[in-house]
Amino acid sequence: MSTVIDGKALAAKLRGQIRERAEAFRAERGFEIGLAVVLVGEDPASQVYVRNKIKACEEAGIRSFSYHLPADAAEAEVIALVDELVASDKVHGILVQLPLPRHIDERKVLARIPARKDVDGFCAENVGNLAMNRETIVACTPFGVMKMLEEYGIDPRGKSAVVLGRSNIVGKPMAMLLVNADATVTVCHSKTKNLKEVCAAADILVVAIGRAKFVTADMVKEGAVVIDVGMDRDENGKLCGDVDYENVKDKASYITPVPGGVGPMTITMLLYNTVLAASRS
Ligand code: NAP
Repeated sequence: MSTVIDGKALAAKLRGQIRERAEAFRAERGFEIGLAVVLVGEDPASQVYVRNKIKACEEAGIRSFSYHLPADAAEAEVIALVDELVASDKVHGILVQLPLPRHIDERKVLARIPARKDVDGFCAENVGNLAMNRETIVACTPFGVMKMLEEYGIDPRGKSAVVLGRSNIVGKPMAMLLVNADATVTVCHSKTKNLKEVCAAADILVVAIGRAKFVTADMVKEGAVVIDVGMDRDENGKLCGDVDYENVKDKASYITPVPGGVGPMTITMLLYNTVLAASRS
């Protein structure tokens, strides 16, 4: 019988702590912690993400500064806005919702955000510091996974960890965090050979590939910890993860569900990073 890792409950607990820290910051400094969210264009999914982030800020006592530029906004206009936010004392974190419209060079825009305000943890300086196990801001989703392991008393030290997926926002920072936590880490991707055998040797298996129910029971070791980052749709259009949950759950010692697992942790860690950035300011 496996323990289901409850991301929703942990997210609620952390948000309570974040709220307390945000209130303490305001009491001490006389103004609120601020997160600026920049949205360019009308992508419906991005609009939902931005709305959710703003709502989460309000609930956590973090002031949000929301900017919505039209889809045809010039690159220079977006850069000028980011520069203004970088200069503002009231803004501790800056988030530019991706993807940006095609005529705008994402890398150029993101490069304007200094590491201290990069609450997504995507910039080269923050990623480099993570690789060197130094003080940094960590990408929200893998950071949330580490918090889940910690909450459930799962120590990666000496364990064999397999990360399935090598994206810059999930797989790679996840692997670095696990290495920093003394796990022996293998990173798998679409060119990996003997994927089933590699996954089946993992004590901790973190899956972030974006393929519905891809990880089946025969890919999981008895008693493994299985963390499912995927957010996919099954054949009936229902939200599901990258792991075949129903068949894997009895084999795993701990498992995250989708929904209610890693998902709620991501925005929570964005708030957490914003508080961290403010406290360092
Ligand atoms: P991504 O950028 O598309 O990267 C996918 C990775 O999976 C790539 O490294 C790819 O390998 C690998 N991959 C794809 N198919 C594979 C296969 N059949 N076998 C082995 N490896 C395979 O995806 P992402 O942004 O990391 O996101 C992954 C999933 O996590 C998605 O479902 C996404 O929606 C979800 N997600 C959830 C949250 C959350 O808050 N819960 C946050 C972020 C992402 P190559 O590098 O060789 O192409």
